[in-house]
Amino acid sequence: MIDTHAHLHFPDFDADRAAVISRAFAFGITGIVEISVAPGAWAEVLRLAQADPRIFAALGVHPHEAAAATPGALRRMERRLADPGVVAVGETGLDRVRGFSSHEDQRRALIAQIGIARESGLPLVIHCREAFDELIPLLAREGGAAIRGVFHCFSGGVAEAQAVTARGFLVGLGGAVTYAPERWRPVLAALPREAILLETDAPFLRPAPDRRGRNEPALLLRTAEAIAPDLGMTCSELVALADANARRFFGLSAPGAAVESAADGDVAAERSASGSAAPDSPERS
Ligand SMILES: [Zn+2]
Ligand SMILES: [Zn+2]
Repeated sequence: MIDTHAHLHFPDFDADRAAVISRAFAFGITGIVEISVAPGAWAEVLRLAQADPRIFAALGVHPHEAAAATPGALRRMERRLADPGVVAVGETGLDRVRGFSSHEDQRRALIAQIGIARESGLPLVIHCREAFDELIPLLAREGGAAIRGVFHCFSGGVAEAQAVTARGFLVGLGGAVTYAPERWRPVLAALPREAILLETDAPFLRPAPDRRGRNEPALLLRTAEAIAPDLGMTCSELVALADANARRFFGLSAPGAAVESAADGDVAAERSASGSAAPDSPERS
């Protein structure tokens, strides 16, 4: 089971990060995509990814941090995208709910990162809060036909689900879908199976029943169990489907290959030797 969106480098995990990571793998997690939100976090996110072949990195600037997406920072980000374990650009996007940065800054940072994703061939991890009407046309205009992306922690309704997936984008389903099953049932029914990814967004959005408190990857199964019936699947069918979608979307290696390499003690070499990580994929060149 792959957690396609976590922030394990956040201070929320400073006291017990190693325990949280080993608990994740003990509870059936086979991969984690560790998502950065600001340039100051890139080194730590890369360090986490390079320390374990089951952890992958996304480099980007979150809309809340949009002012930090300076030309110098974006150039630095482009260079680091070739580092081992980097599988995506993000998270980036637009957030009209919380005004942590100006809309102008958010838009400028987003457009730059769409361009970087297009150039690199990496998929985008998209944060969208009440901004679908602006984001979808912007992705088409700036990204062209080849741009790939996931609307993480998908927050739209049926119309947005249809609009997003009709353009080939994926949706990340997380703890929020466990809070109000009636609200989500029609949305889940509108999703094509190949568009579904699972995520925690840890430390945020701990799944029901105890939604208060810190979330962590080990709890991802709760979300899968909660929504599988509404998708017409068993939990294990949903996990297999979402994992296959995640491996295809992020270009991750098949289960087993990367995990075995951990025993060799040379994670980076094994990862690049397998040819499965994005930095070595032909579409990046
Ligand atoms: Zn987000
Ligand atoms: Zn996030």
